[in-house]
Amino acid sequence: LRRPMVAGNWKMNGSRQLAQELMKKFSRLKDDSAEVVICPPTVYLESASQLLENSKQELDGRLVRLGAQNVSHHEFGAYTGEVSASMLREFGCKYVIIGHSERRRMYGETSDIVANKFEMAQKLGLTPILCVGESLAAREARRTFEVIAGELDAVIERVGTMAFDNAIIAYEPLWAVGTGKSATPEQAQEVHAFIRQRLSEVSPFIGEKIRILYGGSVKPSNAADLFSQPDVDGGLIGGVSLNASEFMALCDIA
Ligand code: 13P
Repeated sequence: LRRPMVAGNWKMNGSRQLAQELMKKFSRLKDDSAEVVICPPTVYLESASQLLENSKQELDGRLVRLGAQNVSHHEFGAYTGEVSASMLREFGCKYVIIGHSERRRMYGETSDIVANKFEMAQKLGLTPILCVGESLAAREARRTFEVIAGELDAVIERVGTMAFDNAIIAYEPLWAVGTGKSATPEQAQEVHAFIRQRLSEVSPFIGEKIRILYGGSVKPSNAADLFSQPDVDGGLIGGVSLNASEFMALCDIA
């Protein structure tokens, strides 16, 4: 059985105060709630990690974890402005988002770089949350599966299917990210099933086990329908993760 996950990607938003506000609310999560992950900007990781540590008692076994939004594909060295996977580990991260569409589009992250980052994250003990997704043009040209397969295969070719034993996938159609227009539950399910099938081809065990999150304009009003699809194991949340009450609502729905 796959434990659902709700991960909040703050992107370049939020504040120390938002982290405090969220942590206070997390103690009110249902006992059997989803695994909750927050991915604040790097500079807030240390205080968020401290807050988590301090609220261990109130959390009482509920799973709340930290993730980063990006990582260097180098281990260490003269790479000004970059942050390494081992640094993120040191600051309490368990997860790292890899290959978000904003990084692929705006920061020139090729499939090759994405595969390098995935590999480095795992090597240094982080669990990658690998983002894949098609553009509107690709969907309209009926190339959705082709694009998704290409993005997956670029990583599989590098690390092998077994590496997905310790990974999460997020399907984020580009046309749904930050647009207010989510994929329909059927559209999401279709692609999630495709991704699971693709990983099952080599390892049925991994296909069955891996969690696949949906991302793109998830909000309290559409989350139940999306999260209840058989191959949707929760969500990667942008805008709504900045609103503590609404984000909590999503965690309870998942
Ligand atoms: P929105 O939820 O704001 O559409 O963003 C989704 C996303 O990109 C999460 O990584």
